[in-house]
Amino acid sequence: MRYIEPHGHMVSRTTDDYQAMVMAGCAAVCEPAFWAGFDRGSVAGFRDYFRQLTEYEPARSAKFLLPHYCWLCLNPKEAEDLALARDVLALIPEFLGGPNVLGIGEIGLNRNTRNELAVLEDHIELAVKYDQLILVHTPHLEDKLKGTNLILDRLKAHRGVKPERVIIDHVEEHTIRRVLDAGFWAGITLYPDSKASPPRAVDMLEVCGHERIWLNSACDWGVSDPLAVPKTALEMRARGHSAEFVDQVLYQNPVRFLSQCPKFLVG
Ligand SMILES: [Zn+2]
Repeated sequence: MRYIEPHGHMVSRTTDDYQAMVMAGCAAVCEPAFWAGFDRGSVAGFRDYFRQLTEYEPARSAKFLLPHYCWLCLNPKEAEDLALARDVLALIPEFLGGPNVLGIGEIGLNRNTRNELAVLEDHIELAVKYDQLILVHTPHLEDKLKGTNLILDRLKAHRGVKPERVIIDHVEEHTIRRVLDAGFWAGITLYPDSKASPPRAVDMLEVCGHERIWLNSACDWGVSDPLAVPKTALEMRARGHSAEFVDQVLYQNPVRFLSQCPKFLVG
């Protein structure tokens, strides 16, 4: 089996995780910029983090023969300090030319606040200006539907945004259809105790088809499983889906989306 981990926060993981992922068939890992578990206090903190994502982590991953790519942004959880957000966004272009940088992400909303929306719009503008792919985080639980609608409205309102170059991540049963119907890609995140489980993810694939959808584990510093994607292949096969079906969802789909960035050289 081969698969892509299109959304993994590897700076939080150990070398054992890299080894296990490669042994399970992982052909590439992509790491969106994320909240550190605490608010970074300065632009210098973000500069160090962007260097970690573009220099150190790909080198660590390469020791396990695993290609590592990343996405850059300021996380919506850190969007309340508008002055800091403005300075961090101004910093991003100097990193966009890095050989492992795929685009802008994971941007989006967390609590659906006015400041988060303002910073989301600035990120969209930045992505369009530099012709970057976009990866979007959608809020949790009761904020998800409203937040997803707000995000889709903002993306659809911008004439420079091409839906086929945007993936809306963390979709659930009540948001996946509107994301796909608007022409965007949808990411299903597999978490042990929230977001989607493997059976729920496969249910969604069976209902919504398997075009423009990828699966990810989002493995981060919280309760999460870096092998959630290959484990979901077991659920697919147990329900009678073919090896070709598994390969399309776990490998071919993410390769198709990510290859829109010419730097993505897997597949
Ligand atoms: Zn994430």
